[in-house]
Amino acid sequence: MNELPWLVERIEQWQKLLAGNKIPHALLVSGSKGVGKKNLVYQMAKMALCDNLQGNQVCESCKSCQLFNAGNHTDLKMISTEDDVIKVAQIRQLSKDLILSSSRGNYRFAIIENAERMNSASTNALLKTLEEPPANAVIILTADDTGRLLPTIKSRCLKINIDLPQRLISKKWLLDSTDFSEQQIEQALSYTNSTPLATKQFLELNHLEKCEQMLDELLELAHGTKNILEVTKNWLEEESLQMFPYLANHLMQIIKTKMFADVPTNDKFTQFSTQQLYSLIQNFFRFLKLNNKSLKTELLIEELLISWKQSFPT
Ligand SMILES: [Zn+2]
Repeated sequence: MNELPWLVERIEQWQKLLAGNKIPHALLVSGSKGVGKKNLVYQMAKMALCDNLQGNQVCESCKSCQLFNAGNHTDLKMISTEDDVIKVAQIRQLSKDLILSSSRGNYRFAIIENAERMNSASTNALLKTLEEPPANAVIILTADDTGRLLPTIKSRCLKINIDLPQRLISKKWLLDSTDFSEQQIEQALSYTNSTPLATKQFLELNHLEKCEQMLDELLELAHGTKNILEVTKNWLEEESLQMFPYLANHLMQIIKTKMFADVPTNDKFTQFSTQQLYSLIQNFFRFLKLNNKSLKTELLIEELLISWKQSFPT
């Protein structure tokens, strides 16, 4: 069942807790975006709910596994939000659901994805539930950034961190589980901090082509074959704006390669000085910080491009 090799150790830990009847009421699963947190918490819940668990293998045929696979297990509730904030009403509903007795006389799971998105009202509501958890209720929080969670929440959770797998392990998994070429995978890993699931998504959404196109435009700007107005117009598209964090990651990777690698990379951007690249990265972060804060997106992009252009002596 487990197709993500770097999660094996965590699954085994969970199996031991299950076998020893030592499942805590609250857990916090942390790790970088795209490392497999959701995959892990689903497996944890599925294992605990399966009627015929053998070792760490779920049976896939019991009533519970069937409900789970159909996506409507009544003993699994989930808050999964794309919004910036998890609202107090969502936490209250979840707590109510947990108090209802289990439909199958077993554990009841509540998963709160991106728990760092709780505001103070929803955090307080959750704290109340964590202080007096209903019998057999298991609350699992996931977070990319645990630094944004209150210590009072964290101290009540068993912490499970998913370490970023080594680049080679991510690369092998991507080669085995996708149709992308080794070269595409190598390139994509550099845009996504080598985070495996994020890299897969990055490739599937054709972000690699988009990012390469934007880097080409920076090159054309540097060589004077395109002007700032043309590039600004292209970069104003929503899809282009979403690439900014990936571009910053990639440029940082180039700097690291320039500084530490024995062999030169063939990336077009290695020709630029570390200082030029750093300044460009800083301008990407500046944009991400200031955009949507009453300043005009167009103006911010222009500033970024002008600064890049000016880093070349005329
Ligand atoms: Zn089963």
